[in-house]
Amino acid sequence: MFDNLSERLERSFKILKGEGKITEINVAETLKDVRKALLDADVNYKVAKTFTDTVKEKALGQNVLTAVKPSQLMVKIVHDELTQLMGGETAEVDLEGKPAVILMSGLQGSGKTTFSGKLARMLKTKKNKKPLLVACDVYRPAAIEQLRVLAEQIGVPMYSEPDSKNPVKIAENAIQEAKAKGYDVVIVDTAGRLAVDEEMMNEIAAIKKAINPNEILFVVDSMTGQDAVNTAKEFNERLDFNGVVLTKLDGDTRGGAALSIRSVVNKPIKFVGTGEKLDAIDQFHPSRMTDRILG
Ligand code: GDP
Repeated sequence: MFDNLSERLERSFKILKGEGKITEINVAETLKDVRKALLDADVNYKVAKTFTDTVKEKALGQNVLTAVKPSQLMVKIVHDELTQLMGGETAEVDLEGKPAVILMSGLQGSGKTTFSGKLARMLKTKKNKKPLLVACDVYRPAAIEQLRVLAEQIGVPMYSEPDSKNPVKIAENAIQEAKAKGYDVVIVDTAGRLAVDEEMMNEIAAIKKAINPNEILFVVDSMTGQDAVNTAKEFNERLDFNGVVLTKLDGDTRGGAALSIRSVVNKPIKFVGTGEKLDAIDQFHPSRMTDRILG
């Protein structure tokens, strides 16, 4: 995905790398190129501007012009700032409690159900947990069926109440079931709509209030660019979620959402989805992502 951005940044840095001594003009030109590359990768305008302003300030503060290896110092400053932009540290998911409860949120089609299955599989195989998947979509029977198929594929139990129209009650009952049967992580997949609407927000807010989850994860399709950032803002205002899951990073995305979301909603990206298969999930590591972007 970040191929274009990577290439663009490499080209910008060439200006610096070619010179024995760099000048203020070189730095300014490079930063202008960096900002353009970020905007073309669909990074939010304000985020791109703040980013290059900060890099400039640091470069001047660290006397980049008189440094022994100015271009290397400049690359390091950009590297560090990009990592900070994406949150700095790797953010873990909170699995305390018996059971820990994770509530999934997001628009329909964002990849919520697929991610619920991926997360359950990861917790089972890598953390030796006993997850329970819960289908809380009372509007689309196909959604329940989709989760059932995923659960079967990964050998994880699934809880649903096909005749119920009350998602709050389903979630509460599922947690009781988990307690009774000794499951240690409950992953609640909720209904999504094609756009943010009041009814949807009220419903998920009611589920949150009833089950008091360890984590609410907001799932968003990274291919939707600036819309991803706007949707994240709306969900965060209503739900105050704990972390973001960026899906479809394997696609032909310009990657800007990954770079903007953290600083716009001030919540960490915790996971990324990199394909349709159930093992296509990664924890999000800001500094590794920076390495990939800078090439
Ligand atoms: P939901 O409506 O939010 O539950 O979304 P789904 O889980 O049903 O996913 C919608 C579509 O996106 C499905 O076709 C998934 O296979 C696909 N999908 C989900 N995650 C990824 C991903 O990380 N990469 C790709 N390429 N496709 C994904």
